[in-house]
Amino acid sequence: MSVETEAGRVWRSWLEGALGFFYPAVCQVCGGERVSAETGYVCAQCRDRPDGVRRIREPFCARCGLPFSGAMQGPFRCAHCGELELHFCFARAAVVATALVLDVIHRYKYRRGVWFEPFLANLLIQAATPDLVRGGWDGLVPVPLFPVREREREFNQSARLAARLGAATGLPVWRGVVERRRPTQTQTQLSREERAANMRGAFAPTGAPAPEGRAGGVGGRCVDNRRHDQRVRAGLESRWRR
Ligand SMILES: [Zn+2]
Ligand SMILES: [Zn+2]
Repeated sequence: MSVETEAGRVWRSWLEGALGFFYPAVCQVCGGERVSAETGYVCAQCRDRPDGVRRIREPFCARCGLPFSGAMQGPFRCAHCGELELHFCFARAAVVATALVLDVIHRYKYRRGVWFEPFLANLLIQAATPDLVRGGWDGLVPVPLFPVREREREFNQSARLAARLGAATGLPVWRGVVERRRPTQTQTQLSREERAANMRGAFAPTGAPAPEGRAGGVGGRCVDNRRHDQRVRAGLESRWRR
């Protein structure tokens, strides 16, 4: 529990007042409820909607994080992971990509809805922190954007979310050690084979001196289209690489 000082309260009310000139004061999903900046402008009622925030909980595949319904005895791997040569230890997704989560991500990424950032960052922090603080990790690597895309968007959402995850876990964020060599198309509508082709050779080390250690990648989202229904599985993904 945190104890807020009087100075902290004054600062917060000043900050919220100042932000109110530029930032909305009500939930940016329903437009009805008054909310504070630290909620990321998504009210409790919207989060609790059936198509609101649905965290991904066990049981899920120990490798790729794919959730399963029903009871499983201990850690397991899905059949999909057995067929693939994966170059990461394990991947975890924070939440199911519900209508609300997809809408927020879209407005954050493409319409500069930066006020949603605390909402998205908190989903990531809550999902990733238990594994990260268990130890063995030395840094975080945000997935880079292709430079033209980053200039258009004016920010890299992975870098911004990684900075918040780094602050919450105490892990340094290693920027500039990986680059995106070419633009890639959005993965959500692609088959597994198309996604592999889309990503092949897209990332490479920059040649900048990379710190020694084990890094966790902070990325975009997982897609489950193995049943060819383009059902999006996860809204936020944290991908840990060796
Ligand atoms: Zn709302
Ligand atoms: Zn799996």
